[in-house]
Amino acid sequence: MSIAEPGPSISKVHQPLASYADDNMSEVYFAGLRADGPSQNVPSKVRRLFERARLGSTFTEGDLVAIKTHFGEPGSTSFLRPQFVGAVVDMVRQGGGRPFLTDSNTLYLGGRSNAVDHLNAAVRHGYTYPVIDAPAIIADGLLGRDEVEVDVNLKHCRTVRFGTAAHQASSIMVVSHFKGHLMTGFGGALKNLGMGFGSRAGKLEMHKLAHPTVDQEACTGCGSCAESCPQSAIGVDEKASIHNEDCIGCGECWVACPSDAIGPQDPRSLIDIQERIVEYCYGILKDKKDKVGYVTFVVDVTPHCDCPGWSDLPVVPDIGILASLDPVAIDQAAADLVNNARGLEGTGLKHHHAPGEDKIGAMADVDWTAQLRYAEELGLGSRKYELIEL
Ligand code: SF4
Ligand code: SF4
Repeated sequence: MSIAEPGPSISKVHQPLASYADDNMSEVYFAGLRADGPSQNVPSKVRRLFERARLGSTFTEGDLVAIKTHFGEPGSTSFLRPQFVGAVVDMVRQGGGRPFLTDSNTLYLGGRSNAVDHLNAAVRHGYTYPVIDAPAIIADGLLGRDEVEVDVNLKHCRTVRFGTAAHQASSIMVVSHFKGHLMTGFGGALKNLGMGFGSRAGKLEMHKLAHPTVDQEACTGCGSCAESCPQSAIGVDEKASIHNEDCIGCGECWVACPSDAIGPQDPRSLIDIQERIVEYCYGILKDKKDKVGYVTFVVDVTPHCDCPGWSDLPVVPDIGILASLDPVAIDQAAADLVNNARGLEGTGLKHHHAPGEDKIGAMADVDWTAQLRYAEELGLGSRKYELIEL
């Protein structure tokens, strides 16, 4: 399957983790979701994908394997079903690994900003022993301060700070829900790994330049943005206004605005945030070469991520499951599958419904390819891939 040509190159200020020559193509394995019997159920598909993509090569007998996922914000319903993640957990157990479910706390003050609330949210969403055979451990501890700092010396970040559990685990299995995202276009494996594992300080570092602004003509003064702001940085007096000095760039107000009246002050900040996420991936992967596998579910592809406390309708039909050893290739493949699907009318996707049109760009006004380009530049993987269907 062909992919979009990579965009302009970014100047090199780093030592790439690997080198991807022009003709280097990564393997991405794919299973669709049609099923007509038990051999076609999701656990059997995950088992075959896991074996074909050689994800078992990322850990050995007795290894502590972090299963990096997203438990879903309370109120959302589009997060990955625990049964899906459980199928990956079962494969890690069968391979002799000791899996644990994990994620880091959030920057905004929702239902997952400390480990107690976060674990309660996970339990309420079914991430508990009767359903899934692994304990849940919050990677950056009770208050999001249990972090390690790793030198990267890259374009944006000199160091990156992420949850200790991610660093101490022998290996990582990144189990992602592919969906849209207002700031980054989409959230897939790279975002799950880089932003997802960032500690509170790390998430602040990634978000800090993404200050929003309010289109005064579009603003109706409804106040939803102010209610969602964790910093009380928004005042509403007929129209909303944002106090820059208090804003941490978390983006909650963008998601909350029903009138599309909030956007970035500087569109370049949406490129920066993607590149910072990639630099966090670089730091996390630095000592884990060949120790990380990726499984991505392209289902419930909503316009927003699983962090708001609600879920919109999916914008394309459910597509399938991907597995790879390459985070760049798996994200590129998922993005291509979504863009090549037929968009669903009556959803948050207002235009670009035809197969082949850029649905991700239609949902968020951002160059979402920036994260893929920069990740390839840093040697995290290849945007060229072979899609191998089971
Ligand atoms: S103004 Fe918006 S981006 Fe800034 S802290 Fe508040 S919700 Fe987050
Ligand atoms: S949520 Fe949007 S429309 Fe409502 S006050 Fe805030 S900026 Fe204005």
